[in-house]
Amino acid sequence: MTETIAVIGAGQMGNGIAHVTAQSGIAVTLIDVSADALAKGKATIEKNLERQVKKGALDATTRDATMGRISTSTDLGAVSQATVAIEAATERRDLKFKIFAELDRLAPAGALLATNTSSISITEIAAQTKRPADVIGMHFMNPVPMMKLVEVIRGLATSDATAQRTVALAAALGKTPVEANDFPGFIANRILMPMINEAVYCVMEGVGTPAAVDEVMKLGMNHPMGPLALADLIGLDTCVAILDVLHEGFGDPKYRACPLLRKYVAAGWLGRKSGRGFHNYSA
Ligand code: NAD
Repeated sequence: MTETIAVIGAGQMGNGIAHVTAQSGIAVTLIDVSADALAKGKATIEKNLERQVKKGALDATTRDATMGRISTSTDLGAVSQATVAIEAATERRDLKFKIFAELDRLAPAGALLATNTSSISITEIAAQTKRPADVIGMHFMNPVPMMKLVEVIRGLATSDATAQRTVALAAALGKTPVEANDFPGFIANRILMPMINEAVYCVMEGVGTPAAVDEVMKLGMNHPMGPLALADLIGLDTCVAILDVLHEGFGDPKYRACPLLRKYVAAGWLGRKSGRGFHNYSA
């Protein structure tokens, strides 16, 4: 693969995408507005690679070569050196619109412009650029190094060549691409978020404790993790942001975020990333 990749946003998804990219032999620049997020992102990749080395799944030479393919920058201008930009910044429409207008100005002609958005319209994001044919949704799952799926979402103007290039890139990263159409939440979050939201209603209405809700879904439905533990992993702020996109996009009250979910976010209980959500991670 001859692509050179820039990943915008070094949070849990951005560092995971940079990890698999570098481990697949592709040079990657991780870009974030926060130097602290870049340092944390790189440290997370190093820790995850080290865990693979300890398990005997990776040798130390490959670990070092992987880390050697990752550079960082706080300057979005670094995308000028990349053939592919994958945006994985915070799930906010205004922020993504601004980043894509900037990418249009800064990325070289012919660059693939992908967004890892969980729910926001690819067509609208693409419309912020003068090259909507090159814009596509490339929706990785969390945690990126472990999860096989990449949802590939074309906007209205996305070209066939861009879609084929994205499918090839996902395969080169060891992922299985599945195509979805551009509607709020695509396939994954259209189905997942109403389930998570209903689980939060069960807690709010006293139907069950968070532990009971998760145990029922694990033991009763054979889910590998309960919906509330999964919400904590995704980030409760991101869950609210996705539900708001579904609610606004479809105009259907069935997607309104549960008040208890909003209350947790207001308290700064964002899940694993803040140490507390429906479960406690401080230990
Ligand atoms: P996160 O909060 O962990 O990280 C977001 C990062 O974006 C932060 O480091 C922040 O500093 C950075 N950022 C904010 N503004 C920026 C800018 N202008 N330029 C560069 N970086 C900027 O969030 P996350 O969970 O990694 O989610 C990122 C994206 O991936 C979102 O669109 C989200 O919907 C999507 N996503 C999340 C999950 C999940 O499980 N969390 C799964 C699939 C997709």
